[in-house]
Amino acid sequence: RGQEVPYDPEQLRRISEHPCFSEKACHSFGRMHLAVAPKCNIQCKYCIRDFDCVNESRPGVTSQVLKPKEALERVDQVLEKYHYIKVVAVAGPGEPLFNEETFETLRMVGEKYPNIILCLSTNGLLLPDKIQELDRLGVCNITVTLNAIDPQIGQHIYDYVNYEGKRYEGLEAATLLCNQQLKGIEEAVRLKKIVKINTVIIPGINDLHIIDIAHKIKSMGVFIHNVMPLIPQYKFAHIKPPSPEEKRKIQDELGKIIKQMRHCRQCRSDAIGKLGCDVQQEFESRTKEQA
Ligand code: SF4
Ligand code: SF4
Repeated sequence: RGQEVPYDPEQLRRISEHPCFSEKACHSFGRMHLAVAPKCNIQCKYCIRDFDCVNESRPGVTSQVLKPKEALERVDQVLEKYHYIKVVAVAGPGEPLFNEETFETLRMVGEKYPNIILCLSTNGLLLPDKIQELDRLGVCNITVTLNAIDPQIGQHIYDYVNYEGKRYEGLEAATLLCNQQLKGIEEAVRLKKIVKINTVIIPGINDLHIIDIAHKIKSMGVFIHNVMPLIPQYKFAHIKPPSPEEKRKIQDELGKIIKQMRHCRQCRSDAIGKLGCDVQQEFESRTKEQA
């Protein structure tokens, strides 16, 4: 293994109470996702945009989008009842950093619940531009989906990237995305964020490249790597995803380089509860009744 990053006591708490950053924590603590971010600024070739962002969430699920005020109300309801929820996150259903509602929601939740762990997942395109704002808001755990560090490979994974009002395609799009992701990750680590990288294993496209990603992110000070099997849909509908055994083998190899998350459940972008024991339905009906 490369060098270990020293974490301070507060960072260690934010690891040990976050069910996705610590396997031990996932038995005792839960998280809630707030689906306040519907728009996305890129197009992954494995994503059908009618559903939740596949980079962090379960495909084939459409989460009910909440306004920031509704999201805060839901946080109130959930935290009052479930004291084991330690993390509030925005993970979709689109790209969190591309939706102003994300920042408003995190601000309101952070002001009202200063001890809650604020978490966010992103495709990374806007991370260098928004990391200071996330830092001011007290967001401490950040997940970036990084499927390639070589744009020659990345160009096969993305249809287009929208950045500052301009649309990029092909190698140009992949180069821009990749540069922004790496810059954002570097800046996040510098600002003492605890960073998780999600990588979708796409056989024939990036499977042999994942080892390079693992080395790179380890050298950058990333805490944990979460490799997720492709869910074959949209332009990658024809690709056979890795079997659970193949995934385990890849994780065993990568585990020699960087700590692996092996307990990801590919949750919905409105998931609430301990991993795999979601209670969001309870709150969905409550919001509808109150409406
Ligand atoms: Fe879909 Fe997420 Fe990719 Fe956007 S970033 S295209 S929502 S998987
Ligand atoms: Fe955690 Fe994986 Fe669920 Fe995200 S999708 S909240 S990383 S278990």
